[in-house]
Amino acid sequence: MSDAPKLTNLADMVRDRAKSRGNALAYEFEGRQTSFAEFDVKTNRVANALIAMGVKKGQRIAYLGKNSDFYFELLMGAMKAGVVMAPVNWRLAGPEVAFIVDDCKAPVLFVGPEFITQARNISDKLPGVRTIITTEGGAPEWPDFVAWRDAQSGDDPRVAIEPKDIAIQLYTSGTTGKPKGAMLSHANFLNLVQSGNEAEKPEWNRWTTDDVSLVAMPIFHIGGSGWGVMGLYHGARGVIAREFDPTKVLDFFEQSGITKLFMVPAAMQFVVRQPRARQVDFSRLKYMLYGASPIPAALLKECIEVFKCGFVQMYGMTETTGTIVALPPEDHIEGLDRMRSAGKALPGIELAILDADGKPLPPGEVGEIATRSGSNMAGYWNLPEATARTIDSDGWLRTGDAGYMDSDGYLYIHDRIKDMIISGGENIYPAEVESALCDHPDVAEAAVIGIPDDKWGEAVKAVVVMKPGKTVTATDIINFTRERIAGYKTPKSVDFIPALPRNPSGKILRRSLREPYWAGKDR
Ligand code: ATP
Ligand code: MG
Repeated sequence: MSDAPKLTNLADMVRDRAKSRGNALAYEFEGRQTSFAEFDVKTNRVANALIAMGVKKGQRIAYLGKNSDFYFELLMGAMKAGVVMAPVNWRLAGPEVAFIVDDCKAPVLFVGPEFITQARNISDKLPGVRTIITTEGGAPEWPDFVAWRDAQSGDDPRVAIEPKDIAIQLYTSGTTGKPKGAMLSHANFLNLVQSGNEAEKPEWNRWTTDDVSLVAMPIFHIGGSGWGVMGLYHGARGVIAREFDPTKVLDFFEQSGITKLFMVPAAMQFVVRQPRARQVDFSRLKYMLYGASPIPAALLKECIEVFKCGFVQMYGMTETTGTIVALPPEDHIEGLDRMRSAGKALPGIELAILDADGKPLPPGEVGEIATRSGSNMAGYWNLPEATARTIDSDGWLRTGDAGYMDSDGYLYIHDRIKDMIISGGENIYPAEVESALCDHPDVAEAAVIGIPDDKWGEAVKAVVVMKPGKTVTATDIINFTRERIAGYKTPKSVDFIPALPRNPSGKILRRSLREPYWAGKDR
C-alpha cells in the first residue's frame, strides 16, 4: 500500500483500508471471515458501545482472552473512541492478572471463554471494573460481546485522535521484575508499520495485497498485536490463530498459503520438530520473522533447512514498539559470522552503545544498547520514575541489554546488563557460557548465574538440566566447558535441576535462580 496517504492515527488506517480494499478479506478466524469494509463498521459499533457505556477518551479497557477476530475489533474500535486497549497475559496466575487489570484502572474487562472461572475468582479483587463482558458467551451473569457490539450504530463516531494519543498499553514480559505498562502511541505504531519511507524499506518489509500473514503469537505481546496491525496496515489478509499450536501452524501453511509470519524461537522449535514438518509444502512462505530471545545456532540451521524461506531476526522490546533492529535474509548464510548478530537498525532508528557513565563506545566494545526514534514508547503508565530512568531528556532509551556494534553497524546482543557476572574484575555474559554448556550432548538446557564469592566477588555457577536418562558429574561439565571458553568464564560449580524456571513468555528467569544465593546480600 505504498501509495497510501501518510496516516496520523490508526483509526484512519481502518477507514482508509475500507475505501481502498473494502471487499478484500481483512482476516479470518476459525472459519469467520471479515472484509475491510465490514471491519470498519464493526469497529464503529465497538467505539459507539464504549462511548455509550461512558468509557472516556484516554481510559483503558482490559482484555483477558486468547487471540481472536473480536480482539482486533476491540483494539481498533477502542482506538476510534480514543480508548486504550490493555491486553492481559492469560498465562499469568490469578493475582498477577488482577494486578494488571487493577493497575490499568479499566472500567470494563473483556473475558474469553477459557477464563470465565478465573474472572469469577478474581472479580472481588477488581474494584475498578464496573462491567465484565464475555467474548464468546459462557457466563449468563455477564453480557456478551456480539450482542453488546451489534446493539450500536455502525456510524463513525469521528472522535478526534492525535498522533501522540495512546493506542495500546502493552505490559512487558516481567522477566526482570513486575510487568510494566508500556504506553504506545498512534505515532509509535505508525513508525513501526511504516518503517521509514518506501525507498528505504528493506525488501522483506515490503508487502503486497496478496500477502497472507499468520498471527500465531499471543496478542498480549507486541509480536501478536503489532504483527496483526502490521498486516491490516498493508491491506493483507490475516489468519488469526487462537493460540500457538505447532500442528495447527502446519495446517495453516497447508490450508491458507501463509506468506509471512512472526514467531519466537521457542515456537519455531516446536513447529520444526513436528514429525510432519518435513512433508509440508512451504513454497508460498516468503519470510519467517523471529526474535524476542536468542536463537540457538542449531535451531536456526534446522529451520533454514525445513522452511526454505527468507529468515529475518528481529531485536526490540515492548518499550520500542517491537522491532528496531533486523538481520535480513541475505545475512542468514551458514558460516557467516553475522549469523550471530541481531542485525542492523531499521530506517529511522538510532542506536548507540553506552558505557556505565552513559558515554558512547566505539565499535567492538560492549556496553548498554540505547536507542532513539519515533518508536520509543510514550512512557510507563503511572511509573514516572521508571520512565525517567529508561528514557533520558534527549530521548535515548536504555534497553538494559548489553551488546556491541561492529564497524558495519551490526548489533551483537550479549545479555541483559543485570545478568552480567563480574568475577575477578572480568565481565562475563551468561549467554556465552550457556551456549558452551548446551554444546554438551547430554545437556538439555542450561542457565548461568553469578553467586557471591569472597575471593572473586562473584563466581560463575551453571544450573543444568540433563536430557532424559543422562547423568554426568559436575566435574565432567566443568572440564567440557573449559575446553571451549576462557578459564575465568568457566563455571566454578554446577547445580542439576529437573527444569529451568521460565516466565510465561518462555524466557529464563535467572533472577529466581540467583535469589537463594543472594538472600540478605546486595547485588
Ligand atoms: P521485563 O522488561 O518486564 O523484565 P522483558 O524485557 O523480557 O520483560 P519484552 O519487552 O517482552 O519484556 O522483551 C524485550 C527483551 O527481549 C529485550 O530487552 C531483550 O533482552 C530480549 N530480546 C528481544 N529480541 C531479542 C533478540 N533478537 N535476541 C536476544 N534477545 C532479544
Ligand atoms: Mg524489558
